[in-house]
Amino acid sequence: MELGLDGTVRSGARRPTSELAVHLRAYQRRADVRAVVHAHPPMATAFTLVGEAVDTTSLAEVRYGVGPVALVPYGTPSTDAAADVFDPFWASHDAFLMAHHGALTVGPTLTHAHQRMESLENGARIIWAARALGPVRSLPDDALAELDALRRSARTT
Ligand SMILES: [Zn+2]
Repeated sequence: MELGLDGTVRSGARRPTSELAVHLRAYQRRADVRAVVHAHPPMATAFTLVGEAVDTTSLAEVRYGVGPVALVPYGTPSTDAAADVFDPFWASHDAFLMAHHGALTVGPTLTHAHQRMESLENGARIIWAARALGPVRSLPDDALAELDALRRSARTT
C-alpha cells in the first residue's frame, strides 16, 4: 500500500502498520531516510527487558553498519506517544531499540534499513554469547572514532 507523509492512504486495500506514527515521524525528522524497518528480533528485544541497548562499541562491523543504538523509552504501541519518545534520538541514530517492544532501523534504502536490523540482531547474539565467555571489551576510542567517521561518510555518499 502507499501512504502520503500525512498518513492518508493513496493506494492499496490493506491497513497500514499499527506503528504508522513512528514511521511517519522518521520521514518527517530525517530527510535522508527513505526506508523504515520495524521488527521484534528476539535477542535484541531481550536487551530492552533489562533496560539495556545493544552496545556496539565492541563489534567493528556492527559499529560501522549500524552505529550507536538508542534505547527508546516505552510508548504504548500504535499511539502518538510511541512516536514522541523517539524525538530526542532521530538526529543521532539509525537504529533504535524500543523498550519492552522491539526494534526500528532506518536507512536511505530498504536494503540499508533491513541490513541494519539484521546486523543489530546479530550483534545482540554475539554480545550475549561473549558475556558467557567473559567480560566484553570495547574497541579503543580512536578505533570507534574511525568507524564512526567511515559510517558518516558512507551516509552522505
Ligand atoms: Zn511492534
